[in-house]
Amino acid sequence: MNSMIVKGGDGGRIEVGRNRTIEVVNVQGGQVCDFFAFNADNVREHLSPGHTRSVLRKVYLEVGDRLCSVLRNPMLELVEDTTGVNDFCVPQCDPQRYVQDFGVSGHRNCRDNLAEAMAPYEIPYEYLPEPFNFFQSSPIGSDGRLGQNGSPAKPGDKVRLRALMDVIVAVSACPQDLAPTNNYELTDLELIVRDS
Ligand SMILES: [Zn+2]
Repeated sequence: MNSMIVKGGDGGRIEVGRNRTIEVVNVQGGQVCDFFAFNADNVREHLSPGHTRSVLRKVYLEVGDRLCSVLRNPMLELVEDTTGVNDFCVPQCDPQRYVQDFGVSGHRNCRDNLAEAMAPYEIPYEYLPEPFNFFQSSPIGSDGRLGQNGSPAKPGDKVRLRALMDVIVAVSACPQDLAPTNNYELTDLELIVRDS
C-alpha cells in the first residue's frame, strides 16, 4: 500500500500500476478533487473527459464506468463511489478564472497545481488536460445550464478506481474558496494505492 495526503488547495502526483486501485478519500468532507491521469509509458496520452462522454454517451458517472483516454483507450474503471456526485464537464480553475470572475490575481488554482505536480514531464502549459472533478456538484438543468453547488461529500467519502494500464495520477484539492464549490473551506484529500 502506498498513500499520501494532499493538503487542501495543493496538488500531488502518484503512480498506479495496472490492476491496482487508487482511492481518493475526502478526509474532512466537502472538498472537490480535480483528477488527471496519464499513460505512464506515454504521458501525451491522458485521461479525456470529452472522449469519455462520447464513449459513455452520458454526463454523470456510475460505478462500472470506464474512463478513457484521448485515444479512446480505457484507462481507469470506477469501482466505488460513496458520494455519487461527480462532474466531467467543467474544466479546472485557472489563473484567468480568478482574475476574470473574481478580480483576484495570484490565487492558487488547479491548473497550476497540475503543472507543478507534472513538472518533471515537461508538458506544455497550454496542453495540460481537463479534469474529472470528483465530489463536484455541477448539475445540468433542464434548460441546459450548469449549476455550481457546494460539494456534498461527507467526511471519509471516497471514490476508488482500478487502473487498466500503468498510469501517473495527478490531483488537485481544488483551491476555489470564492465560490460554493468547496463550501468555502479547503480541506485535505488522501490518496491510497492498493494491490487490488
Ligand atoms: Zn479548482
